[in-house]
Amino acid sequence: MSHSYTLNDIKPVHRPMVIDGADSEADSGETFTRNSPAHEVPVSSFPAGGAPDVDRAVKAARRALEGGWRGATGSQRAKLLHRVSELVRRDAEQLALAETLETGKPITQSRTEVASTAELWEYAATLARATQGDAHNGLGPDTFALVVHEPLGVIGMITPWNFPLLIVSQKLPFALAAGNTAVIKPSESTSATTVMLAGLVREAGFPDGVVNVVTGNRHVGSAIATHPGIDMISFTGSTGVGRTIAQTAGADLKKVELELGGKNPQIVTPHADFAAAVDAGVFGGYFNVGQCCNSGSRLIVHRSIADEFAEAVTARAKTMRVGDPLDADTLVGSLVNDAQLAVVERYVEEGREAGARLIAGGERLQDAVGPRFFTPTVFADVTPDMSIAREEIFGPVLSILPYDTLEEAVKIANSTSFGLSAGIWSTDIEEALVAARDLRAGTVWVNRWMDGYPELPFGGYGQSGIGRELGRQALAEFSELKTIQLQVGPRTTRWVPTPDASRA
Ligand code: NAD
Repeated sequence: MSHSYTLNDIKPVHRPMVIDGADSEADSGETFTRNSPAHEVPVSSFPAGGAPDVDRAVKAARRALEGGWRGATGSQRAKLLHRVSELVRRDAEQLALAETLETGKPITQSRTEVASTAELWEYAATLARATQGDAHNGLGPDTFALVVHEPLGVIGMITPWNFPLLIVSQKLPFALAAGNTAVIKPSESTSATTVMLAGLVREAGFPDGVVNVVTGNRHVGSAIATHPGIDMISFTGSTGVGRTIAQTAGADLKKVELELGGKNPQIVTPHADFAAAVDAGVFGGYFNVGQCCNSGSRLIVHRSIADEFAEAVTARAKTMRVGDPLDADTLVGSLVNDAQLAVVERYVEEGREAGARLIAGGERLQDAVGPRFFTPTVFADVTPDMSIAREEIFGPVLSILPYDTLEEAVKIANSTSFGLSAGIWSTDIEEALVAARDLRAGTVWVNRWMDGYPELPFGGYGQSGIGRELGRQALAEFSELKTIQLQVGPRTTRWVPTPDASRA
């Protein structure tokens, strides 16, 4: 679909929270408004939830869990999950428009993300019927053992603003497939599609209270992290907030799963398919205006081709259409808020001061439809010690670091505290194998970048996170594992030796 919108199509919508299967306003009665970051017009308002609303939601989730959902069959869960994927497809255009209005991302990109969301629900439906465990029949003649998965309980989910619908759908359907219930707090910047999704979950026929959404700011997140009725926190967001949540949840020994930041390297060797690597460099740097945990923000390029590569990336970046996200021809939209704009400008300044060579961009886009558009930026001659090479910027800023040997390239790639994703561009099989084995990251792409599949686990090493989402591994993440040992035949062994063997 290539339809564009204009501001005349936009009417602000109030979206209540969903608690215990019903629309709900905040206990305080207060609301907050979200403006489109690209157009500065109000697009949605939500209840400003707080601790009392979280408490209501947790109690509803617990009632739903113990009131039958825990015991629902795999077949029942699968049918409901599948139905949500159908409803997401039915409402794809409304979801995509709501996503674009709150995030500032191009409408065509939002449409792709909605399509991927439906795939996630569809895949999770297949897992709901595959929750079987293990049986052990080789432990001895008197022993038989089972290992079974059980639902973990009430899962608190806290999500960021960069891929709101996609990220909640990397958690929620998998947690539901495993038999859990959920209390979700979307980012206060981008709550619409999560609330809409909860409406679709209700329409699909999930029992009341299985999925609850509480809208509001970080205090809602804290209330979820500290609530004694929550069994596990699944968080996606910044490394700093992830650390805080892990500390809070650690005090109560809640299970924690964290998907955090990245400073992801792409190594480009002299044996790369040059044109494909250039395109991936631009895609990795500017997709979602660089506000992407998987951004390929470090390009580690062999010195013999570094200048040519930098020029090619710069030339290609200039051909990208940056502009109104409601226009179906736009490839790159607006940054999400003023804070993010300020962060990007600070890092550009730090790069300059550290002596990196600014060869493209570095400033706000002139004559843009709104105030938060930033020019695609490239720094060449970056060294691994510079902040632009070490820290997550979350903006359209690429750093090109030259290297001489593959060993050095891998060492540079592994030299940050992050480890979310990494990649290599080389048609030389030896180079590709060495890098695939030695790069320290949860995902390594070889001659591709940023593709994702519901079947493949995703998560980070080091400061990029704890645990994995997606894939069949996600079921284990959202489950308790129980070992059941069974005595086969009479129990003849005794711990206390019995003197009279006839009375043993
Ligand atoms: P953020 O950490 O500021 O906020 C994430 C969520 O946490 C929001 O809902 C926010 O309201 C809430 N929150 C903030 N402070 C909290 C607190 N003290 N207690 C509980 N909840 C709190 O992140 P963001 O700015 O929304 O998103 C950008 C970050 O997300 C980047 O660092 C990015 O790398 C990361 N991210 C990671 C992945 C991944 O899968 N690894 C995916 C997308 C984004």
